[in-house]
Amino acid sequence: MNTSPLRLTIDGAALVANWRWYAARSETAACGAAVKANGYGMGAREVVARLAASGCRDFFVSSWDEAEALGPLDDGLSLSVLHGLREADLPRALAGRVRPVLNTPGMVARWKAAAGYRPCDLMVDTGMNRLGLSPAEAGSEIVDGLRIATLMSHLACADTPEHPLNAVQAERFAALTGVVAAERYSLSNSAGICLGAAYRFDLTRPGIGLYGGEPGPGAEPSPVVGLSAEVLQVRAVEAGDAVGYGADFIASGPMQVATLNIGYADGYRRAFAGVGTAIVGGEVRPLIGRVSMDLVAVDVTGCDVVEGDWVGLEYYLPTASAVTGVSQYELLTGLGRRYARDWV
Ligand SMILES: *Cc1c(COP(=O)(O)O)cnc(C)c1O
Repeated sequence: MNTSPLRLTIDGAALVANWRWYAARSETAACGAAVKANGYGMGAREVVARLAASGCRDFFVSSWDEAEALGPLDDGLSLSVLHGLREADLPRALAGRVRPVLNTPGMVARWKAAAGYRPCDLMVDTGMNRLGLSPAEAGSEIVDGLRIATLMSHLACADTPEHPLNAVQAERFAALTGVVAAERYSLSNSAGICLGAAYRFDLTRPGIGLYGGEPGPGAEPSPVVGLSAEVLQVRAVEAGDAVGYGADFIASGPMQVATLNIGYADGYRRAFAGVGTAIVGGEVRPLIGRVSMDLVAVDVTGCDVVEGDWVGLEYYLPTASAVTGVSQYELLTGLGRRYARDWV
């Protein structure tokens, strides 16, 4: 039994429902799933198990450590390592059928020398200037002899549908499909899928949307994650008393304050100070004072709450991001190791 005093409640049905939503919008393209950063903090193994059982076949992680953490890959599943192939990665890359996504001419040369004609993926940079071969390199003899399972590129501005770079990237990528031979072509993340048919190609790679993030207008994510923490102490404070670091909060009258077992080291960011809320016995109550590393205070005046009770924290990603200014991606992937992760 996990006795951790803080908990993520993760809704497996919502995760699957979100995946199906993206799978439907991917139309004829297969819909994969980005499970990097430990499944955006949810637990990559559990995410893969649930999505694979629902029909998802293509998964993406960042590193070979993340690939290894998933355990043996079931038959029929495909796993790609987005950061590709450093020299140090070769032993693990050659040991199984997980594919590196080759991002540089150096990686391409390394794979050719070590793995000959084994399948790999190839990333082409169509305008983000982050990772990948240039279109010219991808169309050159550099890639001759590679067996490319998936040729991919990544959109820089998909969450801003009107941004002109979207169409530019889609056109550059479409042009490449006639130049670079690959079994499948893949361009879109969650937000890209919502941009329409010209962005879908053969395979899509949603991430944030699966976990309840709203990558752009038009998506309707089901919330996947809920946060709760135990009350460590309930205390009475009087008018004029300070609460928390910096004495930022001063009570204007007598009140009850609950100190919760969660803080910014758990990814509950300092930016929630002044805007975060807790759900105490069904009532929405404000956070008070600063967020500490491992603790946060809530105004529970008039609530029936005692030491050891569990209190929920509002964490609906689109709203939490709007009020804190912290991206939905950071809100998820920062969630840390101290939580019990309860799948429901
Ligand atoms: C993270 C990532 C994705 C998923 O992006 P979301 O915005 O979370 O949907 C897709 N493709 C690549 C290459 C990525 O790095």
